[in-house]
Parts: sequence; C-alpha cells; structure tokens
Amino acid sequence: MLRLFSLLLLLAPFSSPASRSIYLRDSQTWVLTNQNVSAHFQLTEQGNFQFQRIGLAHRDTLWRTRPESPSCPIRIVTTQANYGCWTRYRLISHSTRPLTGGGHRQQITLEDLDATARFHISLELYRDHPVLRQSIQLENLLPSAVTVTDADLLPLTLDDTGAPFTTLRLNQWVHGGHSANFDLLESALQPGVESGAYAGAAGEHCAWIVLRDERQRGLFAGWEFNGRAFGKLIHEPGRGVVDLQVPVLGVGARIASGTRFTLPAAFFGVFHGDWDEASWQTVSYVESAIAKRLSDPNFPYVMWDSWGYGQTIHESTLRRNAEIASSLGIEVFTVDLGWARRIGDWRHDPAKFPSGLKALSDYVHSLGMKFGLHLAFAEADALAPVLIANPDWRATFNEKYYGADSLCLGHRPVREWVTSEIIRVIDEYGVDWILQDGENMVKRCDNPAHTHGPGNANYAGAVRGLDLLIDTVQRERPHVLWENCENGGAMMTYAMTRRYVTSIAADNAGYLPARRSVHGITYSFPARYSARYMPEENLSPAITRSYMFGGPWIFMNRLSTLSAASLALARTEIELFKRLRAHIRHGRVFHLTPPPSEGAIDAIQSLNPATGAAVVFVHRQNSPAATARIPAKGLDPERFYLVRSEDGGAPVRLSGAELMDQGIPAQFRSTLDALILRLDPD
Ligand SMILES: [Zn+2]
Repeated sequence: MLRLFSLLLLLAPFSSPASRSIYLRDSQTWVLTNQNVSAHFQLTEQGNFQFQRIGLAHRDTLWRTRPESPSCPIRIVTTQANYGCWTRYRLISHSTRPLTGGGHRQQITLEDLDATARFHISLELYRDHPVLRQSIQLENLLPSAVTVTDADLLPLTLDDTGAPFTTLRLNQWVHGGHSANFDLLESALQPGVESGAYAGAAGEHCAWIVLRDERQRGLFAGWEFNGRAFGKLIHEPGRGVVDLQVPVLGVGARIASGTRFTLPAAFFGVFHGDWDEASWQTVSYVESAIAKRLSDPNFPYVMWDSWGYGQTIHESTLRRNAEIASSLGIEVFTVDLGWARRIGDWRHDPAKFPSGLKALSDYVHSLGMKFGLHLAFAEADALAPVLIANPDWRATFNEKYYGADSLCLGHRPVREWVTSEIIRVIDEYGVDWILQDGENMVKRCDNPAHTHGPGNANYAGAVRGLDLLIDTVQRERPHVLWENCENGGAMMTYAMTRRYVTSIAADNAGYLPARRSVHGITYSFPARYSARYMPEENLSPAITRSYMFGGPWIFMNRLSTLSAASLALARTEIELFKRLRAHIRHGRVFHLTPPPSEGAIDAIQSLNPATGAAVVFVHRQNSPAATARIPAKGLDPERFYLVRSEDGGAPVRLSGAELMDQGIPAQFRSTLDALILRLDPD
C-alpha cells in the first residue's frame, strides 16, 4: 500500500504515454515500462546498483533475480579498481528523455564511494517492444590515466525457476561456409556447462543468444559490438541462478583523467513462445530501434555483381552486362574486386578501364541504375603506395586477403587515411553503394607503436576503428548505402545493423547453401540483412526462387552468356521479386520446416502482421514426395484464406485452422522445384 502510494505521488516526468520511467524515491528504484514490459533497477540501501526483474505485462512471464545472487549491470575492471556487485555508489543525477521514433531513455549517473569513477548509465525502452537496451560510460575521476582490462557488455544473473533450459545460438558464415552456414545450434543447458556465442568479426556465431524454459518462458540477448565478444549462459543450480555474461575478448582501453570509456550497447528482451517468437521479438525491435534507416520502398534491390568474371574484368564486358542488367530490371550494378590497380591502391586500373571508371559509372547511371563498388579498405598489397610509404600501418596478424596485407584500423593514421580514400573514391567514381569486403574487419594487432595501445586492438579496432570510420564517411556522404561483407556473413552483430542497410549471408555458394543461410540468419536479423549472390547461369524457378526470400537479390553471373530462356525467366522472376519484396521486408518470418537439405522439402513463410496475408516459399530439393502439406503458422484459425500459386491455377479456399493443422497443399512439377504461395484473407 505504501509502495503504491509513493508510486502515485512520485511519477517522474515521462516522455510518451506508451513508454515511461517511474522513480520510486523511497526504495531508489527505477521502473521502466511500456504497454508490454516493465523492468526494475535499484540503487539499494547499501549503495549497490542492481537489475531486479523484467516481465511481460500480459503474461505470466517474469525473470527476476535472487537476493543472495544480485544482478549488477556494471562489471568493469580497470588497473585501479574492480567495479561489480560489491561496489557502493551514490546517485549523482537521473533524468529521462524521449527517443526518436518512440520510447524513452532513462539516464542514471552514479559515482563510487571512493570517488574513482562516474558511471553514466543509459537504459532504453523503445515503444512497445519487450526489450531493454543498456549502455554504460565510465568517466575516470582519478588524477591519472587508468586502463580498462575487463568489461562485460551484459551481465545478468537470474533466478533459475523454470529450469531445465534450452538455448539457441546461430553460426555465422564460417571459413567460407566450410565450417558453418548459419546453422541453428539448439541445445539443453546442462548444469555448470556454458553455452556460448563467440561473436564479432571473424567469429563463429551471430551476436545473439536465447534461453527458454519448458513453460515457453524465454529471454534473448544481443550486442552491438563488431569486435570479438563471448556471450555465454551458465546454469548454476547450486546458487539457484542462470547467468549471462558477454565479456569483450580483449580490451585494454586507456582512459585519461576526466575522460570517458564507452562500453558498446547491448539489449535483452523477454518472450513467451517458441524460437520464431524469440526471433520476431528480436528482429522487429532491431528494425525499429537499431538498424540503419532506409525509407526507399524499392528496397531490397535487385542487383548485379561482376564476380562471375572474377578479377578478369574490362569496361567493354561490363558495359554489355550493364545494358542487359538494366533491361532485366536490375537496380544496382556493382563492380567487384579487381577494378583497382591493386588492393590498397584505390585508383582504377587503366588497362581494364581505358575510358576510366567514372565513364562506366556514368553509363550505369544513364541506364537508370545505381553504381556499386567493392572496397576491401582494411587491406593493402605490399606494393601499394600506402604500404611502401607506411610499412608500420600493418596489423601484426596478417589475414592475407587475396595476398594483401592487413591494415590496422585501430591505428589512428590508418583510419584517417582510409576515411579520406573512401570519400575520394565515392566522389571520383560516382559511387552510390559500397560493398565492404575483406578478411576480418577488426584486425588482431599487438603493435605497441599503434595508437590503440597494447592489448586493445579488439576494442579500438571495432569502436574507434571500423565504427567511427563508417560513421565519419556516412556523415560526409549520407547518400551512399553500405553492404556488409567479410568474405561472406562473418560479422553478424547489431553494431553492423546500425551502419549497413544489408549484409551478405552465404557467399557465392550456390542455391541450396543460400537457402540454408536465409533459414538461419532470419532468426536473428531482419530479413533484409540476408543478401544472396546467385552465380548460376542456367536458370530455373527452383534456382531463382532460392534467392528471392530476404534482402537484395544479387545476380553474380555473366549476363552476356545467359540463354534467351534464362534471360526471359530472369525478367519475369525479377518482376515477381519486386511484387513480393515489401511484404517480405516488413513481414514476420516463420520457419515452417527444418533447414533446407538435399532430399527434403523446405518452406519459409512471411506474414504481414497488419493484414494477415502471408507468402510461403516451398522448395522440393529432390525429395521423393511429389506433393506435401506444409503447416502454416500465425494465421487466424477462424478466418478463411484464398491460397494461390504465383504460377497460376485456381485458388483454393481454406480456413486458417485447416492451413495450420493439415497444412498448405503443395503440388510440385519436378523433383527440383519451388512454389510461391500467397495466402490472402478472404
Ligand atoms: Zn594495430
């Protein structure tokens, strides 16, 4: 009663009726709440800063902490102090402000009782998403510099009520797809055994991890850091907790007196349901709150990329391909690796472009397409002028991208040179789209002469290297769109989504691996972050439709060698893609079958949450069955739907209940086939 009374009296000013903070002065508790979720943080009587609980408003879904095992959002170690659950703080200030696009940020500033540091804590709740995002800055109050030696992006210690638990992680595209292709890693969380995601550039997993108990109560977490971090869950029945830790793997940031260290942001959310529900709550939040805004209704684009020719390119071949691409309805024309004199010498090769690269760019523009260019800007050939002049700009660990040496973006002079080079290339060649490529964009480096400092290449290369570099170029040249690639989808983090409009998934691997990658990647990222490259030149609907679900559809074949039949098919399939792309970009993905595999049938569904209409892709990958019933998901059981094939034929009218219980009827025409079925509410 007393608590309710103080709650009513002490309503803090709130920024929007849909999302607000309530500050309970008596208990020094902040309650962040929107229509769907509420989360509690407290500065206890002893002065410890703790996360206490997060729960869904309309369901019996609550994650809380245990008093004897508190959960403390600050876990940072410096050469002078160790900040954790035992640290005592005093409140300096707190305030709220609205977020662009809806929601609010709760800002809390604390200072430890020894007055060694101030912590500027941002807690964000975005519109009605059941997701809390946190970021922390450490301000060094000591008269001399300190070095951060350990930092945890998202420490959470929760009551293990509801155990046993199951976890879900996802691979990235690893070692050119040989080791992994966005595989789903679902496993029981065994007591005492950690389940972890080794994420970031050149890591093994996407920066996302999910936990669920037998009652469908779930928690997911993601982090916005392109360097290596290891997100792990550990169930400790002895303490009665399940623990999440996301330590940065390598941080040695030096913080001068009076300056701040910024810990990359991370988020966690609650859900009730299956993995598809965790997926939807994650990706809809990421699209609303984090991902690079892109208002073009024609995105994702149909694109062409020159890699079908490898590095053997010439302006005459490219002009011929541009003419065909334009006639097919392709919207972005990208020149891949091989256009420059050498890697790191970003001037066009005059032997390949006797009229200059700008002339080709002008021609592409005259055909109504955007001009894209491949840039592996964190690499340089030993004979590139930049490395001859600055041999010490190399990272000490060489990734050997196409024989080039690795540049250390964590070293300030390198970053400044690369930034000016990208801007020059954009301006000189009329670039609209950058295909960022390379091998490991956050280099390993321990050169003590570099500005990142010893042991800090992972943090500095990501935050002050890559992120800052791209932020700077994007501020200077905001019209240019960026695609993430790292020899395939090997930097799948939420820092990536903030700066790039899309990311490659599988790289140049053919239609079945492409479909497998989309199946996996759409669990953790919005569908637009799954660009697919199509190398095939003998086209059939089974092939083209393997590349149609997701982000940009990128033709990577030699258009001038395509048969008339393949060209005709490409033209009609591109029209079909353009009719479907807005639906798929904004739709909710349901994974109707296990990942695609040889000898099986696979299906993926996109549901428009507003209209209830669905699009379902069904693929027969040489399965013996010529017909199938694919149970749909997320439909209204009471409603009737008209089920239509994009290839024509009479529609079938079925109830949502029938479509979900008995399945969508699918009739294949050949052993390798793909059907696109529309389910429209009648
Ligand atoms: Zn370095």
